[in-house]
Amino acid sequence: MNQSRKQFLRKSVAGLAGISAFTAAKVAAKGDSLAINELTQMSSHQVSSVKPVVISTWIHGILANEEAWKVLGNGGTSLDAVELGVKTAEADPTNQSVGVGGFPDREGRVTLDACIMNHDQQCGSVAFLEHIVHPISVARKVMEETPHVMLVGKGALQFAEEQGFKRENLLTEASEKAWRKWLEDSRYAPVINVENHDTIGMLALDESGNLSGACTTSGAAYKMHGRVGDSPIIGAGLYLDNDVGCAVATGLGEAVIRSAGASVAVELMRQGYTPQQACEEVVARIISKEKDPKSLQVGVIALNKQGQVGGGAIHPGFNYALLSKEHENRMVDAPHLFEIK
Ligand code: ASP
Repeated sequence: MNQSRKQFLRKSVAGLAGISAFTAAKVAAKGDSLAINELTQMSSHQVSSVKPVVISTWIHGILANEEAWKVLGNGGTSLDAVELGVKTAEADPTNQSVGVGGFPDREGRVTLDACIMNHDQQCGSVAFLEHIVHPISVARKVMEETPHVMLVGKGALQFAEEQGFKRENLLTEASEKAWRKWLEDSRYAPVINVENHDTIGMLALDESGNLSGACTTSGAAYKMHGRVGDSPIIGAGLYLDNDVGCAVATGLGEAVIRSAGASVAVELMRQGYTPQQACEEVVARIISKEKDPKSLQVGVIALNKQGQVGGGAIHPGFNYALLSKEHENRMVDAPHLFEIK
């Protein structure tokens, strides 16, 4: 890149970050700001000592990161790491937002969305998939075994069974009970933060410098039958460009889809934004476009090719788990724009 192009990019990044609504109004993260500062202010020569790095959304990310580390810490690929990592949340019946035990839709059916993307710009996705505990592994099979990117509903289930996945009942007693209670007044009102939705999204950079991402969810609790959120949509819930970085989103999927959240974050990083700035800018854009942003939550996390990380959200309460060669597994509170009143 020539000098004037570099200067232009530096200037425009500073300018854009300077006018971001988020940056102007944000409340400083209360949590582990040390981790954020270390990983957002690193210079590139430090990067080799930071790799591998893995981040994942919400508290279930701690266990997921640990699992992913079994691969990353042994020189394995980021793709294997993210698949293995998010499977912990999918398999946990007490986790009511991902995989088995997920809250059902309003007809009492658990329908799952997931996608995965690797350093080679390959991706696979399943949506509206029933009866399969590990949609992320089906998504990987779509990527590796078919000429397609996305399979949905019955077709996705048929493909999963052909690949040897077993049909199981995903509706636990606890989630069925919650659904029956919900039916009493049947009011659809996604709650801000973790009460009835919280996708696990995971991003990893392996020792070889390759990025991968995964995203899996049972979606918004009591959604309409057939509703698909952002999580299986490449470019919305997850996006990755191995030359640049990757990003994954959680929260109200409709808002993330409308803003092409993850791909915008990656494009901003391509223009020179840090992952932190990119996440904040995506959140600021969602706030500026949505009719009632105070009523919804969106969280975005990002990881760049240098191993820097970032996160941002509309409301407080969104956090992500961070684990790297230099950092113990820990939760980081993401900066937010609004306080819940
Ligand atoms: N983004 C997911 C969806 O809208 C749910 C969540 O992350 O809270 O389906």
